[in-house]
Amino acid sequence: MALLSCSDALQIVASKMPSQALSTATERIPLTSARGRVLAQAIMADRDQPPFPRSTRDGFALRSSDANSPMRLIGAIRAGEQWTGAPLQPGEALEIMTGAPVPEGADAVVMVEHVTIEDAMLTLQPGRTLSVGENIVPRAAEARAGDVLLQAGVCMGAAEIALAASVGAAEIAVFAQPVVAVLATGDELVALDITPDAMQIRNSNSHALAALVQEHGGVARILPPAADTRESLHAAITGARDAAMLVLSGGVSAGKYDFVEDVLLSLGAEFFFTGVAMQPGKPAVFGRIPPTAEFPEQWLFGLPGNPVSTQVTALLFAMPMVRALAGEAEAQANFALAKLTVEVKVRPGLTRFLPARMDSSLAGATVKPTGWQGSGDLNANARANCYLVVPPDATALQPGDVVTVLLRSR
Ligand code: AMP
Ligand code: MG
Repeated sequence: MALLSCSDALQIVASKMPSQALSTATERIPLTSARGRVLAQAIMADRDQPPFPRSTRDGFALRSSDANSPMRLIGAIRAGEQWTGAPLQPGEALEIMTGAPVPEGADAVVMVEHVTIEDAMLTLQPGRTLSVGENIVPRAAEARAGDVLLQAGVCMGAAEIALAASVGAAEIAVFAQPVVAVLATGDELVALDITPDAMQIRNSNSHALAALVQEHGGVARILPPAADTRESLHAAITGARDAAMLVLSGGVSAGKYDFVEDVLLSLGAEFFFTGVAMQPGKPAVFGRIPPTAEFPEQWLFGLPGNPVSTQVTALLFAMPMVRALAGEAEAQANFALAKLTVEVKVRPGLTRFLPARMDSSLAGATVKPTGWQGSGDLNANARANCYLVVPPDATALQPGDVVTVLLRSR
């Protein structure tokens, strides 16, 4: 049977994502702790934005029809002040600062650099014209009182937090974070506080996965690693059945001691895919254990154990699901385009993800592979800051080609 393509695998994960947050459980938190959390309730405008016609410049408020004649300066107004004098009359101008309310009667603001002032009389510099509304944001041009500014399902970053702050939302309602159990498997693994003997390796995957889970809005629960026996896997997996999601590393290849799929099947799991035409990451599996009387459903990702394979497949498949379970409305892996600076060998039939370094500047982004010793190479992986995507049908990749990269940041 032909292996599932990587784009089909992404589609399958997307199609299974719950459209609603995992639980309707919500909590109220201070806006100061909101970064990375997902809104459970929309945030509305408490008043028109801006609440008054706002000057966007330091300059002079005036009537555009006065453009051709000198105007008399009658005062000044700063941000935070309200003009208390009479509405502006023909032939009058008022000094105004950025962010201050434009007084009644004025319909334009001219920048301080574009006028000449002599004896409290203001004239536009030669050639300068005025149009109605210039340098003024009308009242409510950005939003009206009662408008929804941020929908439930939005992940809060600096821009969203600033908007919430602007309407006085000192506390916000967010979804409870999903618990994601992380289970590394393999007889060769030892914990960090143990000195490995020559043939053992330290368990790095649990730490990578926990960091990814946290970054994508989940709460990671690192389980003690399981040995490559059915009994050990069975005990570890049943012990974590209350978690919304279980991410396993290792034990999903076709090796003699790869029992993860078997054990999950014996626990009632269904699989949506077992294997993807990609490299690294080919053995990745995605499934779920249906709900029981005791436990809600549990989403399952069995990721290959080689550390780069684990991280690539986690970023592509498992992390979007974490975000969906956290209530995010737009949960998908993060891709971008960059210009390739070197030639890259292609291997038809598989979507490849090569550890790569992307450099960004005002002119755009360039990317080149870091070079690596294969999917166990944690060093190359840490020198990289993204993965260069080589499409399965690419015939050649040359310097100057625009290529897709899988970003690590959300
Ligand atoms: P597996 O997918 O179980 O065949 O594992 C493939 C290889 O990945 C193993 O031989 C290990 O070298 C490595 N590996 C597996 N699990 C881990 C882990 N938790 N941390 C670091 N490396 C791992
Ligand atoms: Mg193994």
